[in-house]
Formats: sequence, C-alpha cells, structure tokens
Amino acid sequence: VTTSDVLIIGGGLVGCSVAVELAALGASVTVVERHRVGAATSGVNQGGTRQQFQTAVKIRAAKTTIEILSTFKARFGADIDFWQNGYLFALSTPESAAQFRAAVDLQRSFGIPTRYLSPTETVDIVPGIRTDDLVGATYCPTDGRVDPRVLMAAYAAVARRSGVSILEGEDVRRIVAQSGRVQAVETRSAMFSAGSIINACGPWAPRIAALCGAELPIQARSSSVYLFGTSPGPFANIPLTIDADRRVTVCPRSDGIMIGSARKPVVTDPPAEAECDWTFADIAKGRASHRIPALTDWPRTRGWAGFWEVTPDDNPIIGWTHLDNLFTAAGFSGHGMSIIPGLARSIAQQICRVPTDLPLDSFDVKRFANQDLKGEEIWGGTALARFE
Ligand SMILES: Cc1cc2nc3c(=O)[nH]c(=O)nc-3n(C[C@H](O)[C@H](O)[C@H](O)COP(=O)(O)OP(=O)(O)OC[C@H]3O[C@@H](n4cnc5c(N)ncnc54)[C@H](O)[C@@H]3O)c2cc1C
Repeated sequence: VTTSDVLIIGGGLVGCSVAVELAALGASVTVVERHRVGAATSGVNQGGTRQQFQTAVKIRAAKTTIEILSTFKARFGADIDFWQNGYLFALSTPESAAQFRAAVDLQRSFGIPTRYLSPTETVDIVPGIRTDDLVGATYCPTDGRVDPRVLMAAYAAVARRSGVSILEGEDVRRIVAQSGRVQAVETRSAMFSAGSIINACGPWAPRIAALCGAELPIQARSSSVYLFGTSPGPFANIPLTIDADRRVTVCPRSDGIMIGSARKPVVTDPPAEAECDWTFADIAKGRASHRIPALTDWPRTRGWAGFWEVTPDDNPIIGWTHLDNLFTAAGFSGHGMSIIPGLARSIAQQICRVPTDLPLDSFDVKRFANQDLKGEEIWGGTALARFE
C-alpha cells in the first residue's frame, strides 16, 4: 500500500495545479491518472482564459489565473507561452448587451479593464468584423490564451519537481470505505491510502463518487472544435472573439483559426475519449463567417472534441463530499481553464483545513439540496447549451 497525506484521483488541470499548491503547503501528494497527465479535457480545450464572468468569486479567481499565467516562469520556472490578446464578446441583441454590460461594471469594480464598445470601436479591435447587426461588444485586453498541452506539461513538471508522485496508467477501480471514511483506493496495479482523497476526475467525477455509492450532479456534454487554415494569417492578433448570440467562438492559433460552437449534446456515462461531431463543422463555420466574412473560404484542416463537465448552475463543486476525507473539485462547466489555476491555492488550503485566499463556500455541493438552481453563465455551462 502506497501512503501519502493526499491522494488525488485525476491528472488534469485540477489534479496537477492543486498538487503543486498542496506540496507548497508541505503535504506529501500522490496523483493517479488513468491515461497520461492532461490527456483528457485539460489537454484538448481551447485554452482561453477570460475574466469576463458575472459573479464576484469567479471574477476574482479568473483575475488570479491571469496573474499566475502571466508570471508563470518567475513563479514556477517553466515557460508556458501565454498570449494576452484579450477576449471580445460581440453582442447583437439588446438583451445580451444589457446582460454583458452589467457584468462589465462588476468586473471593473475588481480592477479588470473590460470595456463596452460601440460597433465602430469593435472594428478597431477585430478588423473585418461585421457590425451592421451588432448592438455593441465587451472587450477585455488582459484576457488571454495558452496552449493547454504546454500548460499541462508545465504544471506536471513543477509538481514532480516539488516532490509530487504522479502515476500514469493507473485507473481507479475500487474505493474501500469504512466508518464514514475512505480507507483505501485500488487501481489497476496498486493500493493507496491517504489522509485525504481528492476526486479531480472532471466529467468522470460522478463515476468516482459512484464507487462510494454516492452521486454528483455533473453532466458530460460533448464539445467539438474545428481548425481552419494552417496559420492565423491576418487574424494573428485578434482577441478570442465570441459571437454571443450566434453562439460561436473564433480563436487565432499559431497553426490556424479554431472555431468552436455552442452545440454540446449530453453524453451519459461518457467514454474516455469524445468523438468530434463533423456534422456541425459547416454550421459552426457558417456562423463564424457571418461575423468575420473573410473566413468564408478558409479550408477545414482538422477537428477534435472533449467533454464539458456541467453542473446545474454552471459553477464547480468544491468541498468535502459524501465521506469525511473525500474532497471533490470538479464540474467546472466548460470554463475551468479560466478559473482553476486561480482557485488551486484556495482548494489546497481548504484540503489542509487552513483559511482560504478566496471564499469557496458558494461551491459546496450542499447548495443543490432542495434548490432548483438555474444556469448562470453568460458563456459556458447549461445556459449556453440551451442555445444550440
Ligand atoms: C473542447 C473544449 C474547449 C474548452 N475550452 C475552454 C476554454 O477556452 N476556456 C476555459 O476556461 N475552459 C475551457 N474548457 C473547459 C476546461 O477544459 C475544463 O473545465 C478543465 O480542463 C477541467 O479540468 P479537470 O482537471 O477538472 O478535468 P480533466 O482534464 O478531464 O481531468 C480529469 C482526469 O481524470 C482522469 N480520470 C478519469 N477517471 C479516472 C479514474 N477512474 N482513475 C484515474 N484517473 C481518472 C481523466 O483521464 C482526466 O485526465 C473547454 C473544454 C472543452 C472540452
């Protein structure tokens, strides 16, 4: 039996970033990952890190993420290629303009430089954007994008350097619970015991809960992205641009333009890998080309998919769940890249039972008891999926 202070199940962004922070607090940490670190959601996402949220805690978490990613080398000694080209939400209805505008005021109250733009001002930020049907846009120049695979490799390297043991190819199959506590965790080839066990399995977190006879309200939704062209061409410096009402994202990468859409069908009992939905590629491209007409003739080069891990109110579940020493940090509802790095330290502090930098109580799973919580996100989670 391998023993440590903390055993983390899942080597995604949650598992690796929280491991780094736990090690910094002096804990001995083991991470078990059934494939490779970052092989799932955290390695296949769009890598966008925005601060344009509409609740105080997520705005603060996202702001901290930007601080961490923009100083990653100085903090952790690893390069991550963080591009700060901003995020722009193009808005074509008075309703969405009002919703986003209210969020801008809240973001600005936390010192985030988001601005509301007129259609004419929008063209200065995204040359070639179609504005005749726009009401306005919101733009935050310090939002950014990172290559998710590079970030995952960096976090894993930092964790290992901090003494964290990361074991790949170890699929957790059984959890032995007794007297209200996890006593042991069994993988393909070994047994583990730890003072605290962290369920950081993203879309598969409910499966880990089920091993203890428990449930978690996290639904997997398949999410496809498509790459066009082989370089960003004239769009290299545009922000990650989202047409909030046509529900499509346009993101420049060094190897092309990535387009993602709002179609996120629910997948019950998700397999280890998501399949790209090619039937939607042309529709997504049509929506993107409506907003940026110069994209019309760009050829499709490839596509891929992952699972969003969506909770009923689009907020993550962070806290002790089901058993005394079982902690869950999952359900980031399609915007984990933006907030996980910023929350990692507070999550580690809560696991170590010391005061947290950011308040995590609103993420306790108990909020779902006897309450019909609605999706709250302006981009991400259940709210978005309603607009396929
Ligand atoms: C296509 C797409 C685009 C996205 N774009 C963005 C974006 O631009 N901005 C943003 O903020 N967010 C984005 N997201 C969301 C973001 O990627 C996630 O919120 C985040 O990566 C979740 O991290 P995680 O560590 O919780 O999950 P994961 O990365 O899925 O990690 C969970 C890990 O647990 C492992 N695991 C599962 N079961 C077991 C088991 N039994 N034993 C051991 N290990 C197990 C898995 O293999 C996996 O590695 C996107 C998501 C997708 C799918």
